[in-house]
Amino acid sequence: MEKTMPIEGKFELMALPYAPEALEPVISANTLAFHHGKHLAAYVNNLNAALPGSGFEDMPLEDVVLKAEGGMLNNAGQILNHNLYFGQFCAPKADNAPTGALAQAIDDAFGSFDAFKEAFAKAGATLFGSGWAWLSADGDGKLVITQEPNAANPVQRGLRPLMTMDVWEHAYYLDYQNRRPDHLAALWQIINWDVVAARYQG
Ligand code: MN
Repeated sequence: MEKTMPIEGKFELMALPYAPEALEPVISANTLAFHHGKHLAAYVNNLNAALPGSGFEDMPLEDVVLKAEGGMLNNAGQILNHNLYFGQFCAPKADNAPTGALAQAIDDAFGSFDAFKEAFAKAGATLFGSGWAWLSADGDGKLVITQEPNAANPVQRGLRPLMTMDVWEHAYYLDYQNRRPDHLAALWQIINWDVVAARYQG
């Protein structure tokens, strides 16, 4: 996984790789304004404020997630999670699906793309409280789905994270209110499988 380095002791708020309205109607510009512009920005500001004198000043974000504890870990984990999350979307597409080696790996691990989507949606819908559902690759390249609570990331289990759905209420409440499963079902339209395949190729 590509490492995210601090610049002069500070991590930057990632730039969205699409226009704020590009994901509509699946994710509104309004939700992005809060989710990226307020929630993620707060995690970045909180981590940057805690870095001086912590011993983590010059460390890649991914290493902070593996080594830090408490509030430092929570903020670093949420930045890593959201960078992967916001980086994986594109404008809505009908019949959006992976191709090539990634599609084959999904079939090998889950039986079919539809069976994978069903298992992933279940992981997202049944995660109690706040957290993340993830598709990751293990050391042998085999794909697995995990549920991670709060700010946790699959790198903490030695997995390589490929794709994720944020099930914190701030990810969907403005657009879907309490209908988390409806939000998760809609997200399949905007997954940028080229980005996920690039993460899978490493
Ligand atoms: Mn979030």
